[in-house]
Amino acid sequence: MDKTLTSNRLIADLRSFAEKVDGVPTVRGMRENGPHSPYYYKQEFGSWHDALRAADIQPTHGVEWDVSRERLLRALGSVDDIVDRPPRRADVEEHGEYPYILYDEEFESFVVALEEAGIDPDEKQYRFSSIETPEEKRGSANIEKLRNNGPTASTEMPQSVSTKDRQRGVWKFHVDSGSTNPSEPIYYLNGEHSPGLVIHRFFQQNPHVLEHRDPHGIKIAIRKHKPSWKGIGKEIVDRLLEQGVGSQRILDDLELEEDHSVQDLAEILRQVTEADLRVYSDDSELEKVKREKREAAFREVIYDLYDGCAICGGLIESPDGSHNLEAAHILPKAHGGPDLPQNGLALCSRHHWAFDHGWFELNEEYEISLQGHAELVGYDELKQYDGECLRVPSEKALQPYADYINQRNEGLDR
Ligand SMILES: [Zn+2]
Repeated sequence: MDKTLTSNRLIADLRSFAEKVDGVPTVRGMRENGPHSPYYYKQEFGSWHDALRAADIQPTHGVEWDVSRERLLRALGSVDDIVDRPPRRADVEEHGEYPYILYDEEFESFVVALEEAGIDPDEKQYRFSSIETPEEKRGSANIEKLRNNGPTASTEMPQSVSTKDRQRGVWKFHVDSGSTNPSEPIYYLNGEHSPGLVIHRFFQQNPHVLEHRDPHGIKIAIRKHKPSWKGIGKEIVDRLLEQGVGSQRILDDLELEEDHSVQDLAEILRQVTEADLRVYSDDSELEKVKREKREAAFREVIYDLYDGCAICGGLIESPDGSHNLEAAHILPKAHGGPDLPQNGLALCSRHHWAFDHGWFELNEEYEISLQGHAELVGYDELKQYDGECLRVPSEKALQPYADYINQRNEGLDR
């Protein structure tokens, strides 16, 4: 609409037009000779009658005009009962209690009158009106939701995105994690959401992707999706990894939810562990179970990845399957270190103790540097590893991250 076409201006022009025609303006009269299309009046005031009321013009057609909407709709329902299809103009004129013009004037469109009467207009009637079909309305609602809330996970979408939405610029962002845990796509409006928001939101929704894929691969996937996102994608992935966002995965795998009842939780844990579990009544006990599960998962991952102690290579197994390896955190949990393979090391109990007590530090090249203490008992045993390299997994993506090593060194020095 013309921006200068305010409500007051529309009313003023309607009054002038009423004076000019020396009577009550009709929709047709306005359409053919009036200053503006009647469409603007319906859009601004809801119906032609409402526009006339707003202008203090008493409508008269030589027919009973002041029929309530309810009565008009009831009469339309009667016409529907008579004809074997959604009523059309001719049907209303022939069988209706009230003339078609009242519907045209009272409702935004005849299609709206049909909808309000609980009658499904046919496709043709929609096509020749400016009213959206129910499907188009759902599409518009999706767009509105996206516009107001930013990128939206598909589970949050009211329904799947229609062809029309895609034509309007709704795009799907999906990085295959290559894991059995399917990645949840998110939708965004092309050109309306900042790439940073889209990518960040995506990984919030899909933390497992960060764990199951080589970060380099994720960055390539983002670049393939939109070349212009290359730098932003890299930056955000790096930051998320630093924050240990991926550590959420182990809990996600257990399908633990905050609002699960204790019974639900016990059932899930029973399925996962095949163990006989108590039902906990208290949140702190529950937290303890979650933590223990997370830590157990971390230990298992680390044992799988390392053939022996990362310092000495030692491994002692007993006939019953137990062994002397321990899963150490590079960035300690107390410093926010996540339960991620990239933040872990398998160490024998002796070297775990030495690591925790600051006997040696690591650097980004995985070199071991002994931190003095020549006077202490045990120094001689450790001295042989000074300047040596850690034994780390061969798969690059699962090796310790330099960031965790650096943060450990900075954090523990302080
Ligand atoms: Zn060792």
